Amino acid sequence: MPELPEVETLVRRLTPIAGTRIAGAEILDDRLTVTAEQLVGASIRTVRRRGKYIVIGLDGRGDLIVHLRMSGRLRLDRSADEIPYTRMILRLDSGDCVYFVNPRRLGTVSLCPHGFDRELGIEPIGPNFSVDVLAEFAAGSRTPIKQLLLDQRKIAGIGNIYAAEALWRAGVDPRRPANSLRADEIAALHAGITSVLYDAIEQLGTTIGGSVSDYRRSAGEGGSFQNRLSVYGRDSEPCERCGTSIERVMQAGRSTCYCPACQT
Ligand SMILES: [Zn+2]
Repeated sequence: MPELPEVETLVRRLTPIAGTRIAGAEILDDRLTVTAEQLVGASIRTVRRRGKYIVIGLDGRGDLIVHLRMSGRLRLDRSADEIPYTRMILRLDSGDCVYFVNPRRLGTVSLCPHGFDRELGIEPIGPNFSVDVLAEFAAGSRTPIKQLLLDQRKIAGIGNIYAAEALWRAGVDPRRPANSLRADEIAALHAGITSVLYDAIEQLGTTIGGSVSDYRRSAGEGGSFQNRLSVYGRDSEPCERCGTSIERVMQAGRSTCYCPACQT
């Protein structure tokens, strides 16, 4: 699932659509809760990211909100070549088209007339995410720290990949109750979260295998942070810090890779 760095990368690619007008729209999947009539004629004011959501601000009509979930993506393209699994096309007056491609139909598109209304926590790469804020979240919770990092109502945008990587960078065992972390561990985790997110954005995100991703790579859409992952998907490989074999555990139905020696 695309997490903050992948969505941030996509939003940056979409910035040219701000200032254009939607001249035509095709909704090709009846699961999408938006109609062409709601979109055609609207001017696009802004494109931004909030957590893992893409928020397209429409002049006078609210926010068009796209959540990619497992395999969805948005592609900005001038060509009218058929793209498989396209579920929505926005034809812009600039001549570009925005394609919402959604093979597994899990991604969502909806219009919020009164603006973005999802209940989301703090942005981890914004100025408000401080060591103190993280300490406050952790102090109030006995939840395993990995699960706390995945709670979108607390911190928005971190998923399974970057939670595991941040905990490895911090040297913290993902199963530790959040309120058991010492001040120095909270500071290390804060540094782990921000550094891994900025590093991944610099690499244009992580591209995980499979045929869809191969297509994305050929379309120049894939990032390369998968080559820099230290623990995610690397179980039974040696830890690059201490050489111990990386292990995988299940936590709340999600797998977590970690080093049993240097994450304590
Ligand atoms: Zn290690």
